[in-house]
This record gives sequence, structure tokens and C-alpha cells, in this order.
Amino acid sequence: MSSQKGNVSRSRGQKHQNTFAYKNDKHGATTQLKKAKAKIHDGLCQHCKDVLEWKVKYNKYKTLTQPRKCVRCSQKTVKDAYHIICKPCALQLELCCKCGKKEEIIIPVNSQGETRDGDERKTDVDDVGGDDGDLFGDEHEEEAGIDGS
Ligand SMILES: [Zn+2]
Ligand SMILES: [Zn+2]
Repeated sequence: MSSQKGNVSRSRGQKHQNTFAYKNDKHGATTQLKKAKAKIHDGLCQHCKDVLEWKVKYNKYKTLTQPRKCVRCSQKTVKDAYHIICKPCALQLELCCKCGKKEEIIIPVNSQGETRDGDERKTDVDDVGGDDGDLFGDEHEEEAGIDGS
């Protein structure tokens, strides 16, 4: 009786292992998506904010890999994708970071956040492993135990 029970759980474990291997590929995309969704579109006018939120929603938002040149101060201080003006300049001149026009800014730029260097890394915090991650982790451990003995 008891051996039959073991058999059942074993075949289930193998089934899950396939899914686990496949999941590695998906994991990266999820992290990127989460990062984009956590993004606060500050220093933007209503129109530009809408555009960027639309991009995030439809997976078209691509984060910058390196700082861009600000059209105002000509420094490589633009750290947000699709922006043409850096945060300090936009704050000072009251311009939209993306279109560069003097529009009403929906979310004011937080100038304090700009000076903190490790701020961008903070968004990388690995809290992605939700319920799914735990489930697969358990299955995997069980499989390894059976293999060992
Ligand atoms: Zn600037
Ligand atoms: Zn704008």
C-alpha cells in the first residue's frame, strides 16, 4: 500500500521537473517586467506619463542600460528611458522630462532620490519568488532526495 503511494508522488515529481527547467527562461522576463511596473513616472506631463504607462502596460517599455545626454545641461544625467531632460534640469526649469515642454507635472520630481547612488539597485530586490517558486522548490528537493538514496 505504502509503496504504491510513493510511486504516485514520484511520477508527479518528474513531471514538475520539466516545468522547473523551463521556468528559468521566464524568470528573467518577470523580473524586468516587475521593475518596469514599479517605475514611477515622475517629472512628466499628463501626456508623456500616459505614453510611458501605456508602454509598460503593453510590454513595450525598455529601461536604459546607460545614462543619456540631457538636452538642457548636456550631461549624461538622464537615467530614465524615453526622457530627454534630466531630473535636476526638469525640476529647475519646470519642464516635462520627456517632451521638454512647460507642462503641468503630474508627479513632482523627487530631487532627493536623485542623489542616492544605490537607489536603482534597491528595485532589484529579489522578492519575485512567490507561491509558484516555493512549490517548485519543494518538488525539486524531493526529487533530489530520491535520487540520492
Ligand atoms: Zn540636465
Ligand atoms: Zn511631456
